Amino acid sequence: MLNASSSSQRPTNYFDFRLARERMVERLRSQCGITDERVLAVMREIPRHLFVPEALQSRAYGDHALPIEAGQTISQPCIVARMTELLAVDERSRVLEIGAGSGYQTAVLARLAGQVYAIERIAELARAAQTRIRHLGIYNATVKCFDGTLGWNAHAPYDAILVAASGPTVPDPLLAQLKVGGRLVMPVGRTPNDQRLVLITRTATGYEHEDRGPCTFVPLIGRYGWTDERRR
Ligand code: SAH
Repeated sequence: MLNASSSSQRPTNYFDFRLARERMVERLRSQCGITDERVLAVMREIPRHLFVPEALQSRAYGDHALPIEAGQTISQPCIVARMTELLAVDERSRVLEIGAGSGYQTAVLARLAGQVYAIERIAELARAAQTRIRHLGIYNATVKCFDGTLGWNAHAPYDAILVAASGPTVPDPLLAQLKVGGRLVMPVGRTPNDQRLVLITRTATGYEHEDRGPCTFVPLIGRYGWTDERRR
């Protein structure tokens, strides 16, 4: 956990925006209904403004998605908190994340879990995400560039899988790489305006699906997601 005693190792602007982060956490509680204190504590600490383009830093703590490089978006704080809460990870968890984007969600997961393996299909984003995470002193998260719909078999099975882009169905390789008792959260939808956040729990005999409400994400593009041609 980030703490004041090790502040000398932090970037100089680490303490900037502290008040904005406090307000964000209060909104996560009161407006988004987040109750997991561990998730709230981590989001109070991580400097989200370092994950957005410099010109947008002053807006980093509002509850909206923001554009990042390569035409992608950093997810809004509320959805980051909700997806993290749904996964219920702890320090023993091995987590797979698809669509690392800015790396913010990766950092949040890494502070709560044992190990995070994150995949991003755009090389420029994957590199930047890995660099940001290292600069924050987070060493239990690895970001690699490839098609995340294939999963990352080398480190499977996973206690938790988070997909941060919307596909037509949950990719089969991800279901296969989930541990029995493990949880997967992903936006699923046939069109950009009709996406639902789905929580899947693997049981000894199959998979339980729960619908956790509407959401809006960029498309999951890959072998078991949308192909460029099918993308709308
Ligand atoms: N949680 C991230 C969200 C980024 S947006 C953040 O808050 O910054 C979703 C990301 O998914 C985009 O960066 C996009 O490039 C990536 N993506 C889409 N399809 C993918 C795939 N098949 N494999 C890996 N990443 C993918």
